[in-house]
Amino acid sequence: MSTSMPGPAPTTDYPTLLSPIQAGPLTLRNRVMMGSMHTGFEERTRDLPKLAAYLARRAEGGAALLVTGGYAPNVEGWLLPGGSMMASKRMADNHRRVTDAVHSHGAHVVLQILHAGRYGYHPFIRSADTTQSPITPFKAHRMYGFDVERTIRAYVRSAKLAKRAGYDGIEIMGSEGYLLNQFLARATNHRTDEWGGSARRRMSLPIEIVRRVRAEVGDDFLLQYRISLQDLVADGQTWEETEELAGRLVDAGVDLLNTGIGWHEARVPTIVTSVPRAAFAELTGRLKATVDVPVCASNRINDPGVAENILASGQADMVSMARQMLADPDFVLKARDGRADEINTCIACNQACLDHTFANKKVSCMVNPVAGRELELTPRPAVTPKRVAVIGAGVAGLAFAEAAAVRGHDVEIFEASDAVGGQFRLAAAIPGKEEYANTLRYFTRRLEVLGVPVHLGHRATADQLHDAGGDTADVAKRDVADTDPSFAPSPADEVTKPFDHIVYSAGVVPRVPEIPGIDHDSVILYDELLSGRRTAGQRVAVIGAGGIGVDVAEYLTREPNQTLEEWRKAWGVVDPAEAPGGVGTPVPEKPLREVHLLQRKETPIGKGLGKTSGWVHRAELKKAGVHKYVGVAYDRIDDDGLHITIDGEQKVIEVDNIIVCTGQESDRSSLGAGAEDPRIHVIGGADVAAELDAKRAIRQAVELAAELSR
Ligand code: NAP
Ligand code: SF4
Repeated sequence: MSTSMPGPAPTTDYPTLLSPIQAGPLTLRNRVMMGSMHTGFEERTRDLPKLAAYLARRAEGGAALLVTGGYAPNVEGWLLPGGSMMASKRMADNHRRVTDAVHSHGAHVVLQILHAGRYGYHPFIRSADTTQSPITPFKAHRMYGFDVERTIRAYVRSAKLAKRAGYDGIEIMGSEGYLLNQFLARATNHRTDEWGGSARRRMSLPIEIVRRVRAEVGDDFLLQYRISLQDLVADGQTWEETEELAGRLVDAGVDLLNTGIGWHEARVPTIVTSVPRAAFAELTGRLKATVDVPVCASNRINDPGVAENILASGQADMVSMARQMLADPDFVLKARDGRADEINTCIACNQACLDHTFANKKVSCMVNPVAGRELELTPRPAVTPKRVAVIGAGVAGLAFAEAAAVRGHDVEIFEASDAVGGQFRLAAAIPGKEEYANTLRYFTRRLEVLGVPVHLGHRATADQLHDAGGDTADVAKRDVADTDPSFAPSPADEVTKPFDHIVYSAGVVPRVPEIPGIDHDSVILYDELLSGRRTAGQRVAVIGAGGIGVDVAEYLTREPNQTLEEWRKAWGVVDPAEAPGGVGTPVPEKPLREVHLLQRKETPIGKGLGKTSGWVHRAELKKAGVHKYVGVAYDRIDDDGLHITIDGEQKVIEVDNIIVCTGQESDRSSLGAGAEDPRIHVIGGADVAAELDAKRAIRQAVELAAELSR
């Protein structure tokens, strides 16, 4: 098997990132590990072809070492009933197609063995103790000594089966609060037998597993361990314990230490978009100085420059990226070829990956819906390339144009405003969502590379493009040329050549509720605020507490671009050498304004937000002292402020401004009469504004590009 990458020589931009490294028996072609990400294709044999295609695509894109999603060593270790497991020869033999697919692209792949312990969502769960986790309704059975022995044997069996399946090694999951972490931490291990009672004895289970696995699999098999550097829970491990554990793991046979941060139940965010990039790399560097095996950094690494800095500064030997590999499988190739500006950046939204995992759905990626659907959506040249006009350059229009142009269609975009991005551009203005700008950078650059003309400041209508039948393009071009003297048709385009299809993606307009006084000067629509066209005073009411209302409340109370130091302070993240688990007391920043956030529903505010990010937003609102109101009726708006009725009582909230965040309506103003024409395709918010989200819009766009290519 060749471990080098085909194609031109590496650029010098990321010399350390792209240099090979020896990890145990393996020579890895570069320093990029694709971290474990459960996709939902691990459980059923029938899904293994999809898993193979997904992993093979990441191998093809240049990653050196891939880690599979977690596989339980036995039924008790399941995450969910019927969860993924590596426990029989039949299971192992089925995985041959996965390992062969990865190896055919010169990468290595290891199977992650994950025992969920008290994080399992089923009645058979076992752990060091019976302490119930806050993230599952099931209480764990306490493991007896013979249960521990059975568990060790199950790990050994899984490791041997992984070898039989053609994996290059295993990763033993020892962080994020799963079973081994539960044995390691005082918080969850109150035993007094040989598996608890002192820090040293709490380490016995992972050490014994590593020792026995190594003895069985031999030296030609990578043994990787994911160690928790900072548990972020009270009574978590101390730094002294972590260092001791790392040393003992290496002595017991570990070749490579991958690092993890934070238990799933931690109330400090570790992976959402507001967490600064590479926030925990300093700890990795501290561990690296104490061991003589390669150490891998993880968490919020999504950029080759950030990765290179971590490696070149000696903080780590490798970098692990999981979600970034969903967002762009070609991360390594693009970094190598001097095309880093074409990397589709993971914006850490979690909307199509981790939120799907927690909803028991298959994983994909909001900014790259091809992820997990490689067999159906990987771009192939169009059977009959078409001329396509796109009306509207929000993410739906941009994603369609990119996906269609890659397939060989001749695409042009017409955008009424003077910038691309639509609602996404507004999202990037929210403190903690600065990463969202990267999606627009990605699409803009890709369209440039693909030669897709983007006509800004042009309100083209579907009627213009449609009414003149065979001469539609001509009509549109003349219309545009009339309003913009600088407009020139793309060189490849004959002016008389008609558009075969029109993709209508004009997006949404804010819904304006019928409240007496809604025209008052103090009222600001959310897009006016977030675009900077208007500013708010010191006391503000926000009407509507959906995703945008919550975002706006944060916009009004917090400064953007929080530094790592400010973030650590605000969340009470301290050095684990100072406090076990590295949790301290949060010191919230002083809010910029007094904000009142209201909704008509009786349900708690923020209930509809994503599973993995909603709690972070709710915590931010609390820290900013935002006043929340549910079950409200809006009576009127006047010079005194916002008049409401709540719990049967009338009340006035005295504010300088009222921000309207009451949802959106589809913008069909440029659609005209041609909506029934099969050559006109309405996508994104223009199609469905209810429950509008970028995930659906981008997915719909990419699916349409695939459909028009058949
Ligand atoms: P939304 O989630 O539909 O929320 C609209 C809010 O306005 C609701 O609180 C609704 O609740 C209220 N409302 C609706 N019609 C009203 C009316 N006529 N009068 C008064 N209040 C009314 O819409 P959004 O906040 O604009 O967000 C749009 C989409 O963007 C979301 O669905 C989400 O997918 C996405 N998004 C998500 C996030 C996130 O996850 N963090 C952030 C931003 C955007 P009541 O009827 O109870 O008052
Ligand atoms: Fe990253 Fe969001 Fe894609 Fe998940 S869905 S991989 S967090 S961009």
